[in-house]
Amino acid sequence: MLLDPYKRPVNYLRVSVTDRCDFRCQYCMSENMKFLPKKDLLSLEEIERICISFVELGTKKIRITGGEPLVRKGVMGLFKNLGSLLSNGQLKELTLTSNGSQLERFADELYGYGVRRINVSIDTLNPKLFHELTRRGDLEKVKRGIDKALKVGLKVKINTVALKETNENELINIMNWAHSKGCDITFIETMPLGEIDVDRTDQFLPLSKVKEMFSKYYKLSPSKHYTGGPSRYYDNEETGHRVGFITPLTHNFCELCNRVRLTCTGKLYMCLGQEDSADFRSAARSKDWKKDLNDAICEAISRKPKGHDFVIRRKQAPSVNRHMSVTGG
Ligand code: SAM
Ligand code: SF4
Repeated sequence: MLLDPYKRPVNYLRVSVTDRCDFRCQYCMSENMKFLPKKDLLSLEEIERICISFVELGTKKIRITGGEPLVRKGVMGLFKNLGSLLSNGQLKELTLTSNGSQLERFADELYGYGVRRINVSIDTLNPKLFHELTRRGDLEKVKRGIDKALKVGLKVKINTVALKETNENELINIMNWAHSKGCDITFIETMPLGEIDVDRTDQFLPLSKVKEMFSKYYKLSPSKHYTGGPSRYYDNEETGHRVGFITPLTHNFCELCNRVRLTCTGKLYMCLGQEDSADFRSAARSKDWKKDLNDAICEAISRKPKGHDFVIRRKQAPSVNRHMSVTGG
């Protein structure tokens, strides 16, 4: 098992298979986001080698993310191959974070390859605002994708970024909608990752405030459910489903961090909120890739930092230059 310098087991790999996306969510990217040239991306086979090497070192959970992972050509082949590691128990969970735009098309296949739970991001249930916030998205298409996913048997968790004034008054509705579909929901605070067109202090809504507001209407009791991640969950006794809050800025979530993140160019970030990384590209391309990746992974994990230093200040550059779409959310 991989242990970092603070004796935290590292058993969860998140893989951004592309930095590209068919949306341009206002808090995530700018309208004129410059994507990486395709030639800089690892091939899906190279990504698979890195995933296999992590699994051989004890990784139990892999999440495919992006950018929008379902827009990468051939990505179903990666799900298929990684899915085969589930059948012999080497891997416990293969999952996905998606904006849902391509889910109607791929839900069946994902289930077939062993995916059982996915996260889908939806920040508003107002079609016009959805189009505005994503700068091009079609809410109905995303909803159809979610319905299809539920129909084929995937468990869906909704992710919603809480944005001051924008969706602030809708958050209870979004939770009720998610719970009415049998989906848990996690609310996320905006994180200072990458330059965008607006000032993040204008968007930032502390979830402590949101939770306080929810508690006026619902009895929320701390849930036993814990994923080893930054989300703290509560059971909504009325709806029978969970609501989670990810509070990277108001609460330090690093003590039990079990994850690392691979970018589509082969860089491993040992912390979402720090610049230090390890480059796996040449190891993934080497003839002796099994040994080289094994060595590279162990060396990288020995550098996993204790935690992040996020701050959001007015008119200040983001704490971290990479967009979430590069590191994988
Ligand atoms: N495109 C997919 C999606 O939207 O679910 C996967 C990648 S996206 C980067 C993963 C998650 O990160 C989404 O739930 C998104 O809302 C969230 N996200 C993106 N930028 C963020 C930021 N600056 N702060 C907080 N969450 C962010
Ligand atoms: Fe794309 Fe997801 Fe970023 Fe929105 S949050 S722009 S869907 S990567």
